[in-house]
Amino acid sequence: MYLTAKIPELTELKEVGNICTKIWNKANYFCRQQWEQTGKIPSYYELQRVFKDDFWCRQVHSHTAQAVLHKLSESYRSWFQLRKVDATANPPSFRKKSSVSTVTFTKFAITIRDAQMELTLKKGMHVCLSYQLQPKVKITEKNVVRVEVKNGFANIVYRLEEPPLQQSGQVMGIDLGVINTATTVKENGEARIYTGKSLLSTQRYFNKEICRVQSIVMAQSKGKKKWSRRLSELSRKRTRQIRHVLHAQTKAIVDDCIKSNVNVVVAGDLHNIRKLRSDTRKHEKLMKARSWGRVNNQKNHAWSFSWFTATLAYKLRREGILSVQVNERGTSKTCCRCGEVRKRNRKTRGLYICNNCGLVMNADVNGAVNILETYLRPLGRSSANVNLAKVIKWDKTRLSLEALPFKVG
Ligand SMILES: [Zn+2]
Repeated sequence: MYLTAKIPELTELKEVGNICTKIWNKANYFCRQQWEQTGKIPSYYELQRVFKDDFWCRQVHSHTAQAVLHKLSESYRSWFQLRKVDATANPPSFRKKSSVSTVTFTKFAITIRDAQMELTLKKGMHVCLSYQLQPKVKITEKNVVRVEVKNGFANIVYRLEEPPLQQSGQVMGIDLGVINTATTVKENGEARIYTGKSLLSTQRYFNKEICRVQSIVMAQSKGKKKWSRRLSELSRKRTRQIRHVLHAQTKAIVDDCIKSNVNVVVAGDLHNIRKLRSDTRKHEKLMKARSWGRVNNQKNHAWSFSWFTATLAYKLRREGILSVQVNERGTSKTCCRCGEVRKRNRKTRGLYICNNCGLVMNADVNGAVNILETYLRPLGRSSANVNLAKVIKWDKTRLSLEALPFKVG
């Protein structure tokens, strides 16, 4: 598995970042010309051949220049794919002359000497990087993958041996959502609801603020400008705050797994866009606001979803816990007690009410039980009945543990 150590960057690297911007722009210009003349995008190998002896490419380590070209060709590839479905998609843009691009050092440009890293800027020019890691972790020339310098930080990416998977334990099912970020049910019947309320209000606050500042920017520039530095700042702040909460939630889930001896975590596959849509609508109703656009809201939620699952899977794997995805189809419609499948089993205030057996349960807990059962059934296992669900809220700075139990039914 790959890990990243983040350390404050060195100022010497700014100049290199600026040279990378020059390489990006020059190569981008070449790509655009090729595209206009031939309707084809040059491949990475072609770019590499053309720019091998370029003046700016020779100012940095050859692998650093290659990384820029590689990124550019990747951007062109994804634009090429995107324009098949979205005719308005823009090709990779040029960067501002003064901007500092990401600088990548591959392991060929890295030398390690007793907890000190030497990066080769170009032939005969080096900078030193000091770093501190957790006691057991060691970076060597064998396990280091690359160093990326961006946004004022140097990110050291290195490989670590994955711990062996735990062979025994109980299974946990997770239902992901917008109103409740995650709802977990363990084989022993313990349920937890990690509410997404604070995330939603953070999102609402920043969306409103971005909307407000944007209208000022547009008015001041008579509609010519749509973006400003203040807006980028706000959007970065939003991402940071949301990620902070998601980090705490994923950590709490992993801690719970370790404490309760969970060795497999089952989540639904995330292709369930319908749920995302209905949850987004519910959220809008709840907040009595749709002015900032459903599409944007959905985009934000989709981003949180994928970030959450990827991070959770990675944190679980680090503890030797396997994460599995099962088909989510029907898990929200089915009654987890009697198996009755009905489109409209009455759902009010997030409750699942079964017409057949009379079960009254939080709808997300019901979904999580079904996801868990989907995995357990083929193994001939079944989970204990859920009685209570603990609600876990974000309390401005941390997850509050003294949450009141939520009555299930
Ligand atoms: Zn039922």
